[in-house]
Parts: sequence; structure tokens; C-alpha cells
Amino acid sequence: MYTVSNKGKLILVLNGYEFYKEKERKDKCFWVCRRRFTHKCKARVLQNRTENKIELRNTNHSHSTLR
Ligand SMILES: [Zn+2]
Repeated sequence: MYTVSNKGKLILVLNGYEFYKEKERKDKCFWVCRRRFTHKCKARVLQNRTENKIELRNTNHSHSTLR
């Protein structure tokens, strides 16, 4: 599920957490937690674009969900 931030950036919503796109490659996208800086959160997600699969790389959020 995707949403758009108030700055017009694409946000990936996963299990109540929000991620923004860090890097984009031809076959993969790297998403990092939106609270990366405010909460020093290291959670990240790798998206396989060829298979449209989401891989959780780190789900240890340093904060609770936004909702
Ligand atoms: Zn987080």
C-alpha cells in the first residue's frame, strides 16, 4: 500500500509503519523508515521490482507505529 507525503513523496505503508524511498535501482528499491532521523530508526525494506516482492531487511523499529 502506498500513500503520498505532504511533500509529494511516495510513501510505502507496511504494517502501520511508513517508509520512504532511499535508493532506486533498475530491479530494486530500498526503502527506509520515515522516522529514520527523528527516532534514529534503522528499519528498512528491500523491494524486488522484477518480482514485485517486498523483503523485510530490518523490522526493529525504535518507535511504535504511527497509528
Ligand atoms: Zn521505524
